[in-house]
Amino acid sequence: VGLALSVSACGGDDSGSEGGSGSGSGGEAEGAIGVILPDTESSVRWESADRPALEAAFEEAGVEYDIQNAEGSADRMATIADSMITNGATVLAIVNLDSESGAAIQERAASSGVRTIDYDRLTLGGSADYYVSFDNTVVGELQGQGLQECLGSDTANIAYLNGSPTDNNATLFSEGAHSVLDEVSGYENVGEQAVPDWDPDEAVTIFDQLYTQAGGEIDGVYAANDGLAGAAISILERDGRAGEVPVTGQDATVEGLQAILAGDQCMTVYKSATQEAGALADAAIALVNGEDAETNGTTEDVEGGREVPSILLEPQSITADNVQDVIDDGGQTAEDVCTGEF
Ligand code: BGC
Repeated sequence: VGLALSVSACGGDDSGSEGGSGSGSGGEAEGAIGVILPDTESSVRWESADRPALEAAFEEAGVEYDIQNAEGSADRMATIADSMITNGATVLAIVNLDSESGAAIQERAASSGVRTIDYDRLTLGGSADYYVSFDNTVVGELQGQGLQECLGSDTANIAYLNGSPTDNNATLFSEGAHSVLDEVSGYENVGEQAVPDWDPDEAVTIFDQLYTQAGGEIDGVYAANDGLAGAAISILERDGRAGEVPVTGQDATVEGLQAILAGDQCMTVYKSATQEAGALADAAIALVNGEDAETNGTTEDVEGGREVPSILLEPQSITADNVQDVIDDGGQTAEDVCTGEF
């Protein structure tokens, strides 16, 4: 710890406040655009970054909207979707909890003449008109490259903590990371597990098992997001090895950035919520107006056997050297990040 004294991000005011969070459902009661976020446990991003960014984008566009959170329940997401449709939503965007329930929601929407968009996660076998996300394979590649750089060696035992098995993104992140790390013949995969629902508490138990099975002989950890990274770090800390074993992450959360500044986490991936929410708003507004949205590619739905018109944004790798970039971009405030002791 204490590695990052020179980080400009934390040079000034350190009177911090808690991370902001959106509240209530936004806008006028009957949203023409309905957005359903997945949960509050798998990442703080949905309420602290996506909700306010979506509200800002919809306010700026002057459209009616309703943003709700399914709190980790697919049944609840279906109920919310039905009520949004009943209340006159014409476009429905979801972050699915799994492809099957997401596809069912999209089918019901389509039968009511409601257009749908996959936000961040692709619904395999779904019928969304558009997919708005980051290039998730590149996210995984950045994580793999970041880990390799932090390891600074061509020989290492690596443990993998993947995201939820029901999240197509988790598959892409892992594939991207493996495409980099599997190229290095001296890297050995000493254990790999998916974490159901991206649950950070469960990740502690799972990583503890991986760590024990490997006899503690782990030199680097691929963790798919900052929540899973925090879980791995807590086990490494118990063994006095935090900071010694590089751990990857994703989402540039306050905790993730603080762990990077403290030297306990190697990197994270920043995906601007402002950009992603803006892209969703643009696509949704085109659909509301009966127009086509501007896309920059397609994404293969391996289950549905179709190419989904996509708007894919570019993720950015963040290490101790460029935490300031996240702050400069408005992804977090210096106040929030700098409450830690560095
Ligand atoms: C998102 C990540 C997020 C994870 C858990 C993924 O689909 O792309 O940003 O950390 O879900 O919510």
